[in-house]
Amino acid sequence: MIIILKENCEKPKLDELVGWLERQDVKITTVTGTSKTILGLLGDTSKIDMESVRARDIVESVRRVQEPYKKVNRKFHPTDTIVEVSGRKIGQGTFNVIAGPCSVESEEQITLVAQKVKESGATLLRGGAFKPRTSPYSFQGLRADGIELLLEARKLTGLPIVTEIMSLAHIDLFADVDVIQVGARNMQNFELLKELGHCGKPILLKRGLANTLEEFLMSAEYIAAGGNTDIILCERGIRTFETATRNTLDISAIPLLKQYSHLPVVVDPSHATGITSLVEPLSLAAIACGADGLIIEVHNDPKHALSDGAQSLTPEQFDSVMKSVKKHAAFMRKEMA
Ligand code: PEP
Ligand code: MN
Repeated sequence: MIIILKENCEKPKLDELVGWLERQDVKITTVTGTSKTILGLLGDTSKIDMESVRARDIVESVRRVQEPYKKVNRKFHPTDTIVEVSGRKIGQGTFNVIAGPCSVESEEQITLVAQKVKESGATLLRGGAFKPRTSPYSFQGLRADGIELLLEARKLTGLPIVTEIMSLAHIDLFADVDVIQVGARNMQNFELLKELGHCGKPILLKRGLANTLEEFLMSAEYIAAGGNTDIILCERGIRTFETATRNTLDISAIPLLKQYSHLPVVVDPSHATGITSLVEPLSLAAIACGADGLIIEVHNDPKHALSDGAQSLTPEQFDSVMKSVKKHAAFMRKEMA
């Protein structure tokens, strides 16, 4: 961290700032120029609150030279993290497809979709039991019953299950879930992230609708700081001025996240676009950009789906997308898990 001080700053204020910084275990090098003084901070500056440095009246500007995230930072952990989910590996060298309906709606629906996506080559089953809906009058999910139905579908197909948690109050219901999903709207629910840091389960962390990559990685850092580094990052599109798609898939986020972090990255072309015909091209783009997997919504009857029907593939469409996904994953030397 570099702190540039204002001209002719008062000595007692400077001494107070230096003392405060030193108490936070950093070493300070002072460079005194003809008019400006610069403080260079060495050591772990991740706990130093930049805003409170900036708020001091002797400070002109503050700049970080190192990222504020450590545990999820590739600089400190150069080798890729491979997240193991019930014997399946997610990360470097493998390719996983998580597929299933937006919402679990009934036993018939989830078991049928689970069987179909498995036949087409999906490696994990998704399905929302607790649904974050914009309107309180929309279908809110089958909640605890939805998780029970996912467990039934897992028994039938052997596919590990991925489902979203929306509140800390529900954590006990997730005891048998294989991967806990944190949705875009909860990416900065810090109390939830802290709890998931010691839940002992892999986490699928989705990027917030309007969050930067640094904020995304800081949310992953919350989970890792609690001791859980089994985190899968998910790029699911961000809000832009474009209205032709539900969100805008930030394709450059994929290689950047992989440069910045050792965590696996999967892409959600369904929520990124909201349009079924875009799921295949964006899946292929994600593979080309180095994604470790995809999460795709599939419904047996999209027209009558209780949520996200417009972006859900039929099992037949999913089968066709999977054929081309497999070819492209193989081309990128990724083995289907
Ligand atoms: C979902 O996966 O069903 C979902 C709600 O996604 P997101 O949090 O990315 O909107
Ligand atoms: Mn959905």
